[in-house]
Amino acid sequence: MVENKRPNMVADQKCTFCLSPVDRAESQARYGDLVEVRCPCSGTYRITGTMIAVLPHWDLSDAQWAAVAYDLRKMTSRAEPPRLDRDVLEALRDTARLPYPNQILDDFIVWAGSQSRWPGDTLEIMPERHRT
Ligand SMILES: [Zn+2]
Repeated sequence: MVENKRPNMVADQKCTFCLSPVDRAESQARYGDLVEVRCPCSGTYRITGTMIAVLPHWDLSDAQWAAVAYDLRKMTSRAEPPRLDRDVLEALRDTARLPYPNQILDDFIVWAGSQSRWPGDTLEIMPERHRT
């Protein structure tokens, strides 16, 4: 097991789930005992200080981290940011799986529709802004 192979979102200013930069001054705020993180890829979530420290030490494969990030992204599309404590994150870790291609295609069509301003509108997809 490689120790601390994932970044700490506060100390390293990278999202532990997806590795996107989350600048502490711009993308993190305190909500009581929670830190709200606004990740450009994962969305906005609130996480306990304990889990900020514990999460980088989880020994997951890249595919497992991708599955967790995928399921987290679905949770952050709701109005209220999810509260990520140990129970929620362990459940996510134990149940997350990568989507099948048909689900990816469905998600893409829904997302493209949400980005469209009118029927027939075009959309430029840029990896640094639109990666999943
Ligand atoms: Zn992220």
